[in-house]
This record gives sequence, structure tokens and C-alpha cells, in this order.
Amino acid sequence: MRKDGTTLWVRLTVALMRTPSDEPAYFVFIFEDISERVAAEEEHARLLEREQAARMEAVARTQQLEAIFESMADGVLVFDAEGNIIQSNTALRKLLQMDRFVESFKLPLHQRVNLFELRDEDGQPLPEDQWPIMRILHGESLQGKNAVDTLTHQLDGRDLLLNQAGAPVRDQDNRIIGGVLVFRDVTERRQLERRIKKAFTTLLTLAEEVVRIPDEIGKLSPEEQPLNSIRAVGQRLVELTSHVLECRFASITLVEPGSERLILIARVGFPLEDKEWIAQEVEQSTLSDYLEPETIEHLRANEVVIRDVAQAPLVRRSDYNLGNLLIAPMIAGEQLVGVLALEKRSSAQGYTEEEIALAKAIAKLAHLVIERERLQQEWLAARASQLALEETNRRFDEFLGIAGHELRTPLTTIKGNIQLALRRLQALKRQESGDEGTLGSKLEKIDRPLHYAEHRVNVQNRMISDLLDVSRIQAGKFTLVMRSCNLTEIVREAVEDQRYANPDHAIILEISEAVEKAQVIADEDRIGQVIHNYLSNALKYSPVDLPIIVRVEREGEALRVSVQDKGPGLPIEEQKHIWERFYRAKGVKAQNSSGTMGMGLGLHICRTIIEYHHGSVGVQSSPGKGSTFWFSLPLAPRTAPGAHADAT
Ligand code: ADP
Repeated sequence: MRKDGTTLWVRLTVALMRTPSDEPAYFVFIFEDISERVAAEEEHARLLEREQAARMEAVARTQQLEAIFESMADGVLVFDAEGNIIQSNTALRKLLQMDRFVESFKLPLHQRVNLFELRDEDGQPLPEDQWPIMRILHGESLQGKNAVDTLTHQLDGRDLLLNQAGAPVRDQDNRIIGGVLVFRDVTERRQLERRIKKAFTTLLTLAEEVVRIPDEIGKLSPEEQPLNSIRAVGQRLVELTSHVLECRFASITLVEPGSERLILIARVGFPLEDKEWIAQEVEQSTLSDYLEPETIEHLRANEVVIRDVAQAPLVRRSDYNLGNLLIAPMIAGEQLVGVLALEKRSSAQGYTEEEIALAKAIAKLAHLVIERERLQQEWLAARASQLALEETNRRFDEFLGIAGHELRTPLTTIKGNIQLALRRLQALKRQESGDEGTLGSKLEKIDRPLHYAEHRVNVQNRMISDLLDVSRIQAGKFTLVMRSCNLTEIVREAVEDQRYANPDHAIILEISEAVEKAQVIADEDRIGQVIHNYLSNALKYSPVDLPIIVRVEREGEALRVSVQDKGPGLPIEEQKHIWERFYRAKGVKAQNSSGTMGMGLGLHICRTIIEYHHGSVGVQSSPGKGSTFWFSLPLAPRTAPGAHADAT
């Protein structure tokens, strides 16, 4: 210890010196300062200890990582610079059946990838430089929206749609030494999307069928066989159904009330040469020749049944080998008036809930379509008698009401399901909010298709409303509820709605003071519909960064509302036609994702609404410069204060 309290390490060597006569003379003390060495030794020991701890931590970490790696629901693959597999987790081994085909996975990259027939999601073969592994080895990171969906043919024969995300792995010198790929099986999601889409298309086609009031109504001769036109419509429906549900066989058969006799309306799946005798055979029988009484009871209770009809007499005679038949009832009032029967190509696997629901919806619609056809025939016959005509009109009205309801019901269910899924997803996201990297972005990926599906349902709903409106217009049954109202308020409300739904697209509202309080006699809802339509077209067809200007101005004894956009504009030739039913201008494309193409009905409905109001519509436009769609309505006549301006 030094005087100042610090410690000093010394090595002390002592030697005893003697005189020549060997007497002890003195000691020699050698003091060597070894403080530094001791400090170094202590440091060394400390380092050793720390290294030990670090090593143990690394082992623990690795184990932890491995556990995570193994327990991940997604398949993970680690590969080297040549694309050889270094490591894979349980999920991946299960997904690709790696343990069953061990040798195949040891093959060099090219041979291995070729085994899987890698294709893009549309089924086109992927060129080598587009293989996810290649892209990663070339330094690309396939994360977030860069992840790719690939179709693969698995060694056990399954076709899987795999979403592949991943990134390169680099060494200290930033050289790529391999990469990681994360696989997710999205086959089912895709099938669901496809099925929803198919269901939409069917419903839409059926919707069109329901509201198609043939222009040729006047051309039909009253003698024309009603059953023939019903057969033609029925045949289209069966073909459609068979196409959507991939059927081996499908038919629509009516059940005559009272006699219970069957009338075969349409079918697909039997060879042409057998057409005659099958029709005769069916028409000489009743439902009970095919089905047991309790099955018929189920049908009467509006339930779908699935039956093996191999033992029915007709089927036995025909060698058609009909297996698992799905039979959906057509009910009118409380009565069973017909059945839609079908057999899927893969009927052995049974029918999914969705297929059953869809078959049921189609059967209902088929009945509506046939009913409409019958009403039309009656209408034709009733033309002579005004009274009967009124009755038929009333029933037609009722029919439109039911049709609208039937068409929307399946959509409501689908929408409900989507919203439920979205809520679940939100909850899951909240739970996982700590893990913002991979899982977060994957949840985003599910989020998008769901939001898209929801948007589609809304679009379909609008389409159905439009179709029903058009059918009302055509049947001369479009009516308005007229009241005195403030036009600027209606415009303001529509603009607010659209601003809320399209926060990124600027909508400028210009209302001159002179028109603030001006009144028109109008059907508020229908005028709102016109403004909505103009606005949503402007939003749909013009780029999001260019503002839309809505103006309300006075023009003599009228008020003029206009919606100006800076979209593609329309050539003079097209301007004439866009107001026609089902017309859509060529070359005009929706600018944004929400702008799904419509059916070309909106403007037709707008023009009709405004004409019913004794107003006028028009468009000023030139290609490349944008369009201004406008309408004008006569001002309400001035009334003494307190007097009523209501009118119908
Ligand atoms: P859709 O449902 O197809 O939009 P509409 O009847 O509303 O049906 O419009 C008919 C057609 O008129 C559209 O398909 C489009 O080609 C054209 N159109 C309508 N609005 C605009 C616009 N603001 N700019 C350019 N083209 C438009």
C-alpha cells in the first residue's frame, strides 16, 4: 500500500549475501513492479467469464429462435447462395410434404424448381429470373406488396397457390450468401375469392334476367305458346347454374299444383337424342316417383335436400348413374311449385354450405324469372281489358319488390360475413400490434381483399338498385314523390357524403348567394341520386389529384347544378350516346380502385329522373379537357307565405 492509499503489486526477490568467509553479510531485496501484469490477469479472467456468459446466452437465443422458427405457422426456408436448402421449419415440411419426398428437396435449384412447375397466379410459367429465390439472390427483397403469389404443382399432385415473401442474407462485407423465404398457403383464400366472385356474377346475370323486360313485348303474338318462352328462359338459367357450380347434370322441373304432375322445363347433362323420351317419361310421373314422402316434406318446408336417386325408375332405365343429387325447392306462397335439381361433377365430396345457399338462391330466382315470364304472357293477354291490366300491373309491382329483396338477401349475408371477418382481423391486429414487422404486414394483406370484397358488395347493391330502377322506368312504373324543397341543401348533403367517402379527392362547392334559399318542386331522394351519380362518375373517371367543382347557379327561371371534372372528357359522338341504357363510352377508364366499371345505367336513370321533373340534362366536354355534367330544374312558383307548395 502506498502512502497515498493506492495499491501496488510487487514481486519481491530476496538474496542473502555472504562474506568470503561465508558469514551472512547483508540481504539484497529486489522489488519488481508487477501491477500491470496482475491487472492484465484480472482483466483476462473477467473476459473469460463474460465470454462464457455470452456463449450461454447465444445458445439460449438460438434455441429460442429455433423454437420460434419451428412454431411459425408460415413455412420458412433458408437457402444458400446456390439456392440449396439449408434449413426448413415444420410448417414448410408439412406444407410441401418434404419428409415424403426427401430426395427431391436435395436436388440442385433448377431441377428442384422445375419439379414444382412454378407459375404465376394466372397459370403462366414463371421465367427463371422471376423465381422468388432468384430475385432474392439478385438482392431483391420480396416484402409487403412485393411478395408474390405463385401457383405450384406439388409432388403429391395438389396444386397450391403459395404466397412467397423473403429477403437476402448478407455477410459482413455485404455479399449475398443466401436468403430466407416465407411461404403461406393462400389456395383456400383464393378459392373463396373466386367463389364469391362467381356467386356475384351469377346473381348479377340473374338480376339482369329478372329485370329484362323484353322490348319485343309488343312484337309477341298473343297466340305464342307461353310455355315455350318459359322453357327458353329456364334453359338459360340451368346452363348458367351448371356452369357456375360445375355440374354434371342440372334441371328445372315445375310441379303442377293439384295433380302434382311434373313439367320438365329445362335441363343440361343428357344427350340430345334422349331428349324426347326423357321429357315424356318425366311428364308422366310425379315427385313421389323419385323421392320418399319425407324428402318431399323437407322440400315443401323450403329446405334443400341431397339424395341418392340411383333407384328411381327413370334413372334406372337411363344408365345415367346419377349419384348425389342436390334438390332445391321453388316455393310460391306456401306451395312447392318446382325444383332445381343438380349434380356437381365432384358430388362424392358432398356440397359446401355456400353451394347449397347459392343453389337455394338460384332456385328462388329461377322461380321469379319464370313467374315474370308468366306475368308477361298474362299481360299480353290482358292488354285488351283495362281492368285486368291494372291487376297485372299491381302484381308486376309486387314482383319487382320481391325480386329486389331476393337479389339483395344473399348479398346481405355475404356482407355480414365480410364485416365479421374484418372485425376479427382488427382484434387480431390489436393483439399482435407488438409484432409490427412480418405479421402486421401479412394481416394487412388479408385486410385488403376483405375491404375489396366489401366494396364489391356495395357496388353490386348499387347495380341491383339501378337494374330495378330501369325495369320500373321501362314498365312505366317509375313514380316520384314531389315536394317543395331547397335544392342547395340537397346538393350540399350529396357533396358532404362523397367527401366523407373519398377524403383524398378534393370537391369544391360553389353556391352563389342568390340561390341559397331557392326552392324547387322535386323528389328530394331522386334528385340526390342524380347528384350522387354525377359526382361518383366524376370521382371515378378523373385523377384523384385534380379537384372536382360542383356549382349551383340561377339560369333564368331555373336552377342549374353542374359537376365539373378534369378527367378524360368525351368526344361529341359519345356525348349523344352516354344517356342510353347500358351504354358505356369506349376508351374511358376508371382512374382509381374504387371506380369499378358500372353497367352504363346511371346516366340513363339520371336523365329519366330529370325529365320526369320537366327539367333538362346535358354535358359539355372535350377529349383531354374534362367534362361538366349538368341538369336544371324549374324554380318553384312563388307562393304566398304559409301556403303549401306540396304536389305530387
Ligand atoms: P357507368 O356505370 O358505366 O359509369 P353511366 O351511365 O353513369 O354508367 O355512364 C355512362 C358512360 O359515360 C360511362 O361508362 C363513361 O364511359 C361515360 N362517363 C360518365 N361520366 C363520365 C365522366 N365524368 N367523364 C368521362 N366519361 C364519363
